Amino acid sequence: MRHRLSGAAFGLLGVLVLAACGGSAAQPPTRAKNVILFLADAGGLSTIHAASLHAHGEPNRLFLQQMPYIALSDTTTVRDLVTDSAAGMTAIVTGRRTVNGAVSIPGERDGEPLKTILEYAEERGLATGVISNDSLTGATPAATYAHVNDRNMTAAIFRQAFAPRFGDGVDVMFGSGRGTIVRRLEADGTSLEALARESGRPILASLDEVPADAGRAIVLFESSDFDVEAAFVEAHRILSQDPDGYFLMVEVDTHTNNIRRGLDRMAMMDRVIRRAAELAGPDTLLIFTADHSFDLQLRGGRPGTPLLEGLEEAEARAREEKSRTIRAPALHVENSHTGEPVIVAAQGPGAERVRGFMANTDLFDIMMEALGWAAEVEPATAAR
Ligand SMILES: [Zn+2]
Repeated sequence: MRHRLSGAAFGLLGVLVLAACGGSAAQPPTRAKNVILFLADAGGLSTIHAASLHAHGEPNRLFLQQMPYIALSDTTTVRDLVTDSAAGMTAIVTGRRTVNGAVSIPGERDGEPLKTILEYAEERGLATGVISNDSLTGATPAATYAHVNDRNMTAAIFRQAFAPRFGDGVDVMFGSGRGTIVRRLEADGTSLEALARESGRPILASLDEVPADAGRAIVLFESSDFDVEAAFVEAHRILSQDPDGYFLMVEVDTHTNNIRRGLDRMAMMDRVIRRAAELAGPDTLLIFTADHSFDLQLRGGRPGTPLLEGLEEAEARAREEKSRTIRAPALHVENSHTGEPVIVAAQGPGAERVRGFMANTDLFDIMMEALGWAAEVEPATAAR
């Protein structure tokens, strides 16, 4: 009896120790403390495959192609079978489909704002961040923090970054578009300087200007060719200081209307994902997806031959013929979005729900559930 009692006591002690440590080392966490969402704009399956062939000379060499959980995500909007970035990203970050052009606003474009995963994170005191080599007011980053009827409302979108509905707004914003944003703000009767002054948040021009002890930072680059990996490392350094965790969205524009640039950028993004997997702990959910696919097709080529051989001649021919389609020996590209499902790849707590054919709106639920949160039903829009 006595022996049994001490056995039970040891058992209880073990449970308490496990509870205090949040599980043993052998058992990965079941809840995500942090979520990093990687969004390859226009980075469909054909672009991923071509990026591996282009950058590594072989199929399936990207880091994201080694991730343990894979799904195919439908990108249909409420009105169109082919989505734009605004409706595509709205679905991913709010769990609600909308119409093309609308930024985290429901389909009829006159409803209450749809609450985004970044806003939930702000509300719950997590650190939040957005990185994009597109404009910081581009449809993809905008959908995480702004709510507008029309994705072209650049000044309104940027102003909303400084008037958050929840928490203190996006803590880390690293992105491009400085020139256009300056002009649009001026036309709207304000300026970067005025927004910075009113909000007490300096709007910097390079990563070097971010103070070493910064808990928040905004860098608005002139060019889209800044070092996204360096931006990620800096954002991670800042955000990971928050004991409550963080939500970070990283967008890389991988449109292949410029084929070489698009594939180079997909390979670059893959390096950033690999870096994220190294830096972020086992309590971080990493999700990669695209908002929509692009009309790039593998139509030829041979193993061992550079994928983009003959590309420059093909581009010159298309320009001469004023054709929308570039016909290189291995790749054909027409400059348009396409409507087939896109890849989702994931690892970390909650990633096991990424499997099979799903809807892009499911990604919102997966991220919320991984963080242990329940989405609110929004009365103003629930009936739609
Ligand atoms: Zn897009």
